[in-house]
Parts: sequence; C-alpha cells; structure tokens
Amino acid sequence: MTRTDTGAVRPRAGSGPRRVRDTDMARLWHPYSTVPPAEPPYVVTEAEGTRLTLWAEGRSHRVVDGMASWWSAIHGYRHPVLDAAVRRQVDVFSHVMFGGLTHGPAAELAEVLVGIAPEPLEHVFLADSGSVSVEVAMKMCLQYHRSSGSPERRRFLTWRGGYHGDTFHAMSVCDPDGGMHALWGGLLPAQVYAPAPPGGFDAPPDPGYVEELERVAAEHARELAAIIVEPVVQGAGGMRFHHPGYLRELRRIADGHGLLLVFDEIATGFGRTGELFAADHAGVAPDVMCLGKALTGGYMSLAATLCTGRVARGIAEGEEPVLAHGPTFMGNPLACATAAASVDLLAGGNWRGDVARIGAGLRAGLAPLEGAPGVREVRVLGAIGVVELEAPVRVREATRAAVEAGVWLRPFRELVYAMPPYTCTAGDVAVVAAGMVAAAEASAAAADGGA
Ligand SMILES: *Cc1c(COP(=O)(O)O)cnc(C)c1O
Repeated sequence: MTRTDTGAVRPRAGSGPRRVRDTDMARLWHPYSTVPPAEPPYVVTEAEGTRLTLWAEGRSHRVVDGMASWWSAIHGYRHPVLDAAVRRQVDVFSHVMFGGLTHGPAAELAEVLVGIAPEPLEHVFLADSGSVSVEVAMKMCLQYHRSSGSPERRRFLTWRGGYHGDTFHAMSVCDPDGGMHALWGGLLPAQVYAPAPPGGFDAPPDPGYVEELERVAAEHARELAAIIVEPVVQGAGGMRFHHPGYLRELRRIADGHGLLLVFDEIATGFGRTGELFAADHAGVAPDVMCLGKALTGGYMSLAATLCTGRVARGIAEGEEPVLAHGPTFMGNPLACATAAASVDLLAGGNWRGDVARIGAGLRAGLAPLEGAPGVREVRVLGAIGVVELEAPVRVREATRAAVEAGVWLRPFRELVYAMPPYTCTAGDVAVVAAGMVAAAEASAAAADGGA
C-alpha cells in the first residue's frame, strides 16, 4: 500500500473480513498487545442482542458475548431504544463544544445521574473515558485540599489489587505489583498502598485487617488527600470480591483524618453487582464517584465524575477556584443522549431480576468446576462469574474452546470470567457457563500437554 495524495485511489479496508484482518494486523494496536499481534483478532461482522458474529479463517461463529464488551453492553447490541436515541440526537446535532455552551442531553443526563447516585453526590463532570474520569477525581481531591489551605496533602491511599485505568495518575493507584508499576518505576507518583482487602463477599470484615488500614492511614494522614478504591469488586486487578463492611470502615477512617473518599464504580456501576452501585451494598456514600463502562449501554465512550456540594464549594473557595480540566469532547451530545436513554431503560426495567437470573445461571453452570483439578476458586456475585485457575490461563486455547462452545470470553492471568449483557436469557447464561467450563478445561489440557 502506498501513500496517495488525493485519497481517491485509497485501498479500501472494508471489503471482506479477510482484508479487514490483514489490514488490522499490519496497522493497528490492540489493548495490551504487540504490533503485529501474537494472535490474529476475530473480525466482528454483526452484533445483535446478546450475540456477536465472529469471523476467523473463513468460518463464522455466532456467539453469546460473555464479556458485554468489557462490562459496557448491558442491554445487548442494537437495542431499539438506544438506536432510536442516537438517531434522534444525530438529527439535532452530534457535537458542540462545552466551553460556554450547554445542551439538553448533558443537562438531562446530569439530572438522571444525580437522581440515582448515592446522596449527597450532586455535581457531575462529564469526561470521555474511565481513565480520564479517574484523573478528574484525583484532581478534584488535590484541588480541594489546595483550596482548603493543605497543599501538602498530595498522596492517595489505596489497597492493593486495584485497577483504575491506564493514564499516569490512574496507573499510580493500580496494584503496585502489576506490570505497569514495574515498567514505569520512578515515573509514577508514589502513593500509599495498604494490603489487598481479604477476599469473599460473604466473609465478615477482619478486625486485624481494619487495624492495618487504620495504621497505614494514621502513619500518612498529614500527606494524604484521599482514599481511592473500587468498592466490593476489584475488576481488572484480579476479579476479587470483598465484604461491603470494609467500605464503612474506609468512610470512618477517611472522616477521622480529613481525607476524601473516592469510589471508582466504572465497572461496578449500573447494577452489575446486584445493587445499582456497589456502594449501596454498604449504604456508604463517597465524596467523589467515577462512572463509565455501562454508562452509555456500551454505545460510546463516556464517563462521569460525580462529587458532593462540599467538594465543589471547597474547590471554588480557593485561590484557584476553577477545576482545571476540560476535554475537547466533554459532554458529547450523542453520548449524553444515549447514556440518558440507557439509564432510563435500566431504571424502567427489571434489572434486579435480570442480574439475579444471570447470577443463578452462572452459579449452576459453573458448579461442575468447584473443586475440579487446576481450579482454585469459583465465585459469582451479581451478574459476574469468575473461575480462578491455579495456573495462568492458556489464552489461545481457552478462547478457541469458548468460541467453539458458542461464547466470546477474554481470559487474563489465572482468570476465566464473564459479565454478560442483562438481556441474556437463562439459555444464554447456560451457554456462557458452558463456554467458561470449556475454556478452563482447554487451558488445563494445554498446560498438561506442555505445549
Ligand atoms: C475500565 C476501568 C477503568 C478505566 O476506564 P477506561 O474507559 O478504560 O479508561 C477505570 N477503573 C475501573 C474500575 C475500570 O474497570
């Protein structure tokens, strides 16, 4: 392929899945991958309801999307209500800048989000991705303390095992033993790390662990701006669940030392764990909350950072009263209109029943793996199913086995996991669980074969 000066004779990548795959491999980066990638990607040729159509080597596979496109497609693909919301807004306008201007979709979305968020969260910053919403949350905390005359409060306390995104400050509060910290060493801000919370949604808080949290917070209290964690479910850091009681302890510790409390609900928000927000399991409200992933029902990139009136006023009372952030695509009208429609669809539907049905189906379907050789643990919470193996997953073999079984999965580390769309029927969930079993077995077989 050569560079063309008019574009008129530009080779067209869109002609046929084989061409798409080849062009992709020559040109594109994928998440956490090399160029060219070690494995060819599957080409998606259709997405409808709970199903993706995947092309690989001349064959098409119609599979249930066990990943909901990384937690986001909670209503499935091509949902008529969301499609209509996008079309309606395209016919009005698709984008305008947000500096000095506003529009209906942003105002409506802010009302919708504040209406469902834990009180007293009342102000909304619209960002373009989850990582950016975490940067904004951290900036809010730093500016709050600066404005209140404590500029020395510049560090964040988090517990190990977390994931908060891939931009630099967000990376600094991810699990410090993960590859990113090792890679970036001295470049990341030094944060304060407590041990990971003891595992198990049903395991009551361990007083010894809470004492350790208190000790770490007290030791660093004067230099800390905030505590930031993922409530109840640590996602990309290891798919671990913990008891909601720890959130109440964090609230108490934060209040005792004048720290703000940030909950990153980017993965857990919008019902995934069985409550609308994971914080609701504990009845605890943070000072700052990040939302993303399922916010637009998986249609577009949009995230939000919510904060309390106290945080907003605290920032405004300082010598630098403006929150110093403003992305070009802030408040994108298409994304806001879709998000408002997605949240309305969720709130007006039976998400609690849907999540319970999926959880029950995953529990039943994964039961054969409990105590199976090579399986460390099977855990299910809300509409999330996790199989933790004793050895790292053989991703190629596991993915192929899942696709053959009719499911799209994307295992990582020792984890085969799924968080399917809420629109999955009991039959779809049975297929997802069977795909997870097939993936775990294929991984174990590949490891045994030493291949
Ligand atoms: C995915 C995720 C992020 C990052 O969101 P992006 O939209 O990928 O930038 C941050 N925090 C949590 C808990 C996430 O799951």
